[in-house]
Amino acid sequence: MRSLIDTVDFSIEELDDLIRVACDIADHPEKYAHACDGKILATLFFEPSTRTRLSFEAAMLSLGGNVISVSSAGASSAAKGESVADTAKTVSCYADIMAMRHPLEGAALVAAHAASIPVINAGDGGHCHPTQTLADLYTIYREKGRLNNLTVGFCGDLKYGRTVHSLINALSRYTGIKVVLISPEELRLPEYMFAEVLDKKGMTYEETTDLVAAMPELDILYMTRVQRERFADQEQYQRLKDSYILTLDKLDTAKADLAILHPLPRVNEISVAIDNDPRACYFKQVLGGKLMRMALILKLLEDAKNDYQSFRVVDGLIHKDTKTCRNGRCICQVEQEIEHLFVQTDAENDVWRCYWCETQAE
Ligand code: ASP
Repeated sequence: MRSLIDTVDFSIEELDDLIRVACDIADHPEKYAHACDGKILATLFFEPSTRTRLSFEAAMLSLGGNVISVSSAGASSAAKGESVADTAKTVSCYADIMAMRHPLEGAALVAAHAASIPVINAGDGGHCHPTQTLADLYTIYREKGRLNNLTVGFCGDLKYGRTVHSLINALSRYTGIKVVLISPEELRLPEYMFAEVLDKKGMTYEETTDLVAAMPELDILYMTRVQRERFADQEQYQRLKDSYILTLDKLDTAKADLAILHPLPRVNEISVAIDNDPRACYFKQVLGGKLMRMALILKLLEDAKNDYQSFRVVDGLIHKDTKTCRNGRCICQVEQEIEHLFVQTDAENDVWRCYWCETQAE
């Protein structure tokens, strides 16, 4: 069964196709109003969300389908200790497709292995958030008319921001992308993103702490919230939370056609005075998210009909006593039944990663 756990599960051509369908939906919504008549989407959100859950539900309703929903861990059998795999098997009996958000990294992948319907990862801990990336790619494409030859600045919490990790990963497959990483030292992009994406794919990038100095060269500025819920040390959060606040004066040297994106929710990172500036694209991005989720639901239901085989290659995984995942937020650390599986991602340096959360194994 085909699922979407990370954007790399789709080829560039498939992503282009999703954008094409989303553009068509934007122009001719009536053509799609009954495309999912009789189908049911289950949204399972074990972590807070406003946009993503409503966006999935609005997407399915706009396609003529129906929605069933769990909107908090406390309101589900997860509170009684049910495993993610059992929840996924149960929901497969009620729905045709499911979208899951979970605080544990790798949870959606576990669900995808257990389910007999397509699973969409709506965010798994700090790991990834592919449907936000679909919204981001759509917005960039609509604003710039292309997804290559762009200088993209990422500003704020690059350490815990899962949307940043997913978007950099997706952009690494396009040509002529330069990434400018703007963050305080404590919130730098994780090392594995350099080793496994930026350096491995030979991307051009630079790091700075100075947003204003970076501004003039940017085509896209991707602002992010400091992810309070991922900090073990709340004093550190208080110290870093206002590291970057985008105000109108900081845009003085920006390009006239800069596109400012933000996955939202905004806490304090962008002054509301910028909302009326034509360069502010973050609310258009919200609409793009719904359109891309519509295109995605259509695609996965179509692939399910065609009996698309396993979406990830399981060969080459090993269960080795000598390797350990030390990520306390990984589902394999919390749920006893999950097999500890590791994949070798760099043979030269003998780097192994946990199959579920992709953290480097020890
Ligand atoms: N809504 C995005 C997410 O779920 C961004 C954020 O929460 O800051 O990751």
